[in-house]
Amino acid sequence: MGGAATAPEPPSGEGALRIGVLASQGDFAAHAATLRSLGAEALEVRTTEGMLGLDGLVIPGGESTTIAKAIERDGLADAIRGHAESGAPILGTCAGMIICDREHLGLLDATTKRNAFGRQLASFEVDLEMGGIGPDPLRAVFIRAPWIEDHGPEVEILASYGEHPVAVREGPVLACSFHPELTDDSRVHALLMAMATAARVDSSGQSLREETKT
Ligand code: GLN
Repeated sequence: MGGAATAPEPPSGEGALRIGVLASQGDFAAHAATLRSLGAEALEVRTTEGMLGLDGLVIPGGESTTIAKAIERDGLADAIRGHAESGAPILGTCAGMIICDREHLGLLDATTKRNAFGRQLASFEVDLEMGGIGPDPLRAVFIRAPWIEDHGPEVEILASYGEHPVAVREGPVLACSFHPELTDDSRVHALLMAMATAARVDSSGQSLREETKT
């Protein structure tokens, strides 16, 4: 952790993907472990300096009010928006999805409803089919989860539970209501890393596909 924070920034487009995990509050350690198991360099992010040179960012679950205050306190909003504007992907999970919505960072043209499943369904697990990760259902763990209440036309729905979208994508922003870091199915993190690899290729102005053809 400490060493990673002071490591010099490598030239972009080389080496393991550098994926930041916003570590203000919430279950960031489990995300970092999943990312490392997939071969990424996972870095805990608490400062604007920590946002430099990242290929991707995870905004974890936790308490959205607390995370929003920490982002404000640490002056991270512009750095996170700049990251997305550069085309680098973001995965927001549970409270992290709320943080991406219209009322918070405005990275998703969507309104979320907090604690949407009510008290009786506060925490539950369900198998969901989700676009972008292959046909096998994903075990989705919901903990006082939000859902997408309303969204604009650019928001692609990847999974719904009942009538409510619970996994969406808009450009570089991927968000889900559930906790993909709490199971051993790492396909949501793998999707984030695939988006990060594609963004790296785009920003270097080269297509890996063309390189491998020759
Ligand atoms: N209920 C929390 C909120 O509204 C989110 C819960 C979670 O991230 N597991 O912020």
